[in-house]
Amino acid sequence: MTPKRFERSFTQQESVPEAAVAAAVEVLRSGRLHRYNTLGDAPSEAALLEAEYAAYQGSRYCLACASGGYAMQVALRAAGLRRDEPVLTNAFTLAPVPGAIVAAGGRPLLVETTPQLVIDLEDLDAKAAASGARFLLLSNMRGHLVDMDRLMQRVAARNLILIEDCAHTMGAAWRGTKSGSFGLAGCFSTQTYKHLNSGEGGLLTSDDADFMARAIVLSGSYMLYERHGAAPGAETFAEIRLETPNCSGRMDNLRAAVLRPQLTELERNVDRWNERYRVVEGKLRAVDTLRVPVRPPEERYVGSSIQFLIPGIPPSATRDFLAANAALGVELKWFGAAQPVGFTSSHHSWRYMPFQSLPRTDAVLAGLFDMRIPLTFSLEDCAQIGEIVAHCAAALPVRGAA
Ligand SMILES: *Cc1c(COP(=O)(O)O)cnc(C)c1O
Repeated sequence: MTPKRFERSFTQQESVPEAAVAAAVEVLRSGRLHRYNTLGDAPSEAALLEAEYAAYQGSRYCLACASGGYAMQVALRAAGLRRDEPVLTNAFTLAPVPGAIVAAGGRPLLVETTPQLVIDLEDLDAKAAASGARFLLLSNMRGHLVDMDRLMQRVAARNLILIEDCAHTMGAAWRGTKSGSFGLAGCFSTQTYKHLNSGEGGLLTSDDADFMARAIVLSGSYMLYERHGAAPGAETFAEIRLETPNCSGRMDNLRAAVLRPQLTELERNVDRWNERYRVVEGKLRAVDTLRVPVRPPEERYVGSSIQFLIPGIPPSATRDFLAANAALGVELKWFGAAQPVGFTSSHHSWRYMPFQSLPRTDAVLAGLFDMRIPLTFSLEDCAQIGEIVAHCAAALPVRGAA
């Protein structure tokens, strides 16, 4: 029996809380939208957000900036990346990650992907050794955390400077340590499809005073770095403020005002995402052709999207599978497409860098599907979606592929 068509939108997020609407209106009425346009000593919304996010993350410092991509770019520059230096990163990630490396003057060196959708530690080690790269921009793509204990052993052994892309792991943790707190810096996005929504926006966290002072000046602080909410003391800036270029990418008070009330809801929303994730996951796990990555017990994930693999699916069957789901209202993203659709996560479409052979990643992406789980979906919606995908998978010409 064909399931009922699903009628809701996979790109519809919840409204921002009423408190955020009120705070935004207040900023608009004040006319003081620029983060340094404050009255007397009153902290700006941007500075308050920095203090509150640093407290949430458990980091000493935080910088609010224009986007997640900008946070990564500034992090690489503040960490001392030199022109044309290689930066190790996941081959399976979203386009802003290699884009940030290139914008910062580096060269992306792509590392293979495992069927668990995380960075391949053997390949990381081999490429770190062969290249002598100093930097690893680890992308926790689609919210999957690699075994952070094993990763940190490699990072220490190869003396790598670790920067974490936590666009999909805001709120996630590994054995109780928050994602973004393992290396020199954590980079977060507050773009609409992430875990906080200000349309665009980014947050950069770190415990390193010199690094954060450089990042703050890079972000365009002029000489107003003392008006930040979670910044090192003025003495740290004495030389840095004169040696560091201004590459404007500040966050404004309007966005910060919209984000602050959302931050107080984040933990509750993590639970709401995970309830929904588990309903879809349960339906998908019941189908023997589908492989849903196993979440390790050490990982506290945020199920704002779900991924599954159909190993060995032929491209023609993929098209039918996508079309059958779409006909029943389920929007799946397939990562194996030859041409990028919607957004790009295939290294084949990043032709501004030399081609890198990544057969293991290509094999994973060829059978990889992805679905957003917005909080506007009810648990019943999630069950219905899971049933639709399971129904469409039952018609596939692959059976329990190894
Ligand atoms: C969204 C995203 C980013 C940053 O995105 P911005 O749009 O620049 O805020 C970084 N990495 C990944 C994996 C992402 O999905």
